[in-house]
Amino acid sequence: MNEELEARRPRLGPSRSVVRDGDATCYIMTSGRELLRCQGTQVSLLVDQLLPLMDGTRTVGEIRAALAGKPEAGSVDTLLDLLWAHHVVVDVGPEQAFSADELRAFGGVVALLSRSFPDPYRPLERLRQARVVVVGHSELSRELVLALAECAIGAIELVTEGAPVSLEVQLPVRVQAHPIEALEAVVPGASLVIGVQDGEFSFTRRMRELNRLCLRLGSSLLAVRLTLDAEGWIGPLHTPGTACFECVNLRQESHLKAWKEQLLHCAQVEQGLLVGKRLGFPPFQRQLANAVAVEVLLQLTGLEPSRLSGRSLLVDVLTQERSLHPVLKHPACPACGHSPAARVFPWGDEEIRLGRMLLKQEEGR
Ligand SMILES: [Zn+2]
Repeated sequence: MNEELEARRPRLGPSRSVVRDGDATCYIMTSGRELLRCQGTQVSLLVDQLLPLMDGTRTVGEIRAALAGKPEAGSVDTLLDLLWAHHVVVDVGPEQAFSADELRAFGGVVALLSRSFPDPYRPLERLRQARVVVVGHSELSRELVLALAECAIGAIELVTEGAPVSLEVQLPVRVQAHPIEALEAVVPGASLVIGVQDGEFSFTRRMRELNRLCLRLGSSLLAVRLTLDAEGWIGPLHTPGTACFECVNLRQESHLKAWKEQLLHCAQVEQGLLVGKRLGFPPFQRQLANAVAVEVLLQLTGLEPSRLSGRSLLVDVLTQERSLHPVLKHPACPACGHSPAARVFPWGDEEIRLGRMLLKQEEGR
């Protein structure tokens, strides 16, 4: 007898329901469209006797004992095998590792995970163990902290530029806010770091510093940006060997006719001569934050861990159109590329120097 199987505590999966249709037919609905049709003499045993016992309080052994002596008892194991095989029931034994608060708060996450994992508590555990660092400068990063909390991320650290923020999250997650000066102390050991840029031109220097810090520590960095045109860019997710934040910048600049003007804007915002503009429309900030949190959930649970590696997901938050764009590592990347002497292209990080040169010319006028 398999002890592991005997100790399982089966319960109908969170999104499953059973509908009886006469004596010999029942339907197990797994969603509005998917169903399992059960027909035959075992339907009564399943619906009237077995399912009421499978409420998560009894082990398989206890269920078998409760039905012992009944004429249909011999079919219990066959029925249970079928229910496991079709993911109709889940083992709620691992539930005991979570508090009542956690189970209440993250029931929706478990329901979602149970659609893809036979044991949804294992990926939930991964989320609860995760520590995600959000680095930003606007309401968008605070919205992201809330969305990540709703996705059951165990620890979330918000590092912000400017005035310290206070965050109240009514969920069983650890949330801490830090000033930007604490960045080097907070990032090491994080499961994932998310750099959040809201608007145009501002926060670029911080994103560059964050990119270099993550490269140095080998941390995964997800870049997020909301443009003035209501375009949300999620990714790429930088992991060792894939395109980093600077690679993306170089690729984008090579497609921009007005890249010099862009760089002038960035430099002037960094020097405090210009104010970086942002859309500042809370529904769009919330929408992008929610989309990012779902991507984080896909990554940390292992549902789609490499979807954003070397790819950016473009979400037009106004039209709801989405597209995935591959981003290749740039051989001349000043952050993750070869040393200047070994570069394929000789112009390396010239765009920064050229930007400064243009600024000097402007000042000299
Ligand atoms: Zn790079």
